Amino acid sequence: MPVDIKSLTKEQLREQIMTLGYPAFRAAQIGTWLDGGCASFDDMTNLPLALREQLKEQFVIPGVTILRRLQSQQDETVKYLFGLSDGETVESVLMSYHHGWSQCLSTQVGCRMGCSFCATGMGGLSRNLLPAEMLAQIETAQRDRGIRVSSVVLMGMGEPLDNYNNVLRFLRMLAEPGGIHIGMRHISLSTCGLVDGIYRLMEEKLQLTLSVSLHAPNDEIRSRLMPINRRYPVEELLTACRDYIRATGRRISFEYAMIDGVNDSDACAAQLASRLKGMLCHVNLIPANEVSGKDHRRSSQQRLKQFSHILEQQGITVTVRRTLGADISASCGQLRRQERREE
Ligand code: SAH
Ligand code: SF4
Repeated sequence: MPVDIKSLTKEQLREQIMTLGYPAFRAAQIGTWLDGGCASFDDMTNLPLALREQLKEQFVIPGVTILRRLQSQQDETVKYLFGLSDGETVESVLMSYHHGWSQCLSTQVGCRMGCSFCATGMGGLSRNLLPAEMLAQIETAQRDRGIRVSSVVLMGMGEPLDNYNNVLRFLRMLAEPGGIHIGMRHISLSTCGLVDGIYRLMEEKLQLTLSVSLHAPNDEIRSRLMPINRRYPVEELLTACRDYIRATGRRISFEYAMIDGVNDSDACAAQLASRLKGMLCHVNLIPANEVSGKDHRRSSQQRLKQFSHILEQQGITVTVRRTLGADISASCGQLRRQERREE
């Protein structure tokens, strides 16, 4: 893991630079760049190229720069491609709701969970994001638009519970008065179902909303879509969810991406309803986004309606997610892939 260069004292930075074989004044130059808000080692043009390369290997400057900004023509959604100090990129989406601005953040560069329908998972995991890099996504979007973000969803690139410590530090920093100051009640964390992470989170007793990406009512379908299901099968995951609800008193939101002919039959709806019956939960149906290079198709409106009708008849609360920014492929992972292909 590269070290956050901003967390070093001036002394420590000088020592590190001298260990690399450079004179102390190089550390002072780096300090001046950092104090001036420089977000990339490549921009530190008065340093020797070899030093810049070494810095990139060993350190990160936890900040983000806007590489691309896509503005939806249909609504106020804005999608960003952010650049990190080591040349990696992540996506983030800003959405306007009647209650204010909500931002969808990335927690990792890529993801190692390999879900079959997901663009982010296609290239595997490059690295975890640092807490400061998660905060910087909000700060940068706020500055860019001249707005205040009032709620945050961890549903961008990456699996938040696979970067547990950094995500928890970030959430605590976010809630601090004086900073961005967004309280836990305005935060949603989405996980593909890392059961050990759910239990860890349960112990923290936070007031955030836990979203669990379920996407299938049984192991047969879920293991095909989500490799993590082979490690934590549906029943084990649902047991963890019940324990979580009992311990925190918080309702869980189950995400269910409707994929044509895969998980959207009446039988799937009935099985899902019977497994969730009696739980303090909510099902969020999402028309699956079609991803280039993947052959899944989204379910028809008619299917979505019928599926949600069956769940409702069984007493399960359901919402169908509004698709914001559909014209700018606002679901994460796609813009970054497109950008990489164009390189
Ligand atoms: N890794 C976490 C959070 C990021 S993914 C998780 O999996 O929950 C955010 C949400 O987008 C998840 O519910 C995920 O299953 C969903 N998702 C990913 N690719 C999608 C696609 N092509 N169509 C619809 N939803 C998708
Ligand atoms: Fe990772 Fe979530 Fe995509 Fe699965 S859906 S590959 S867990 S980002």
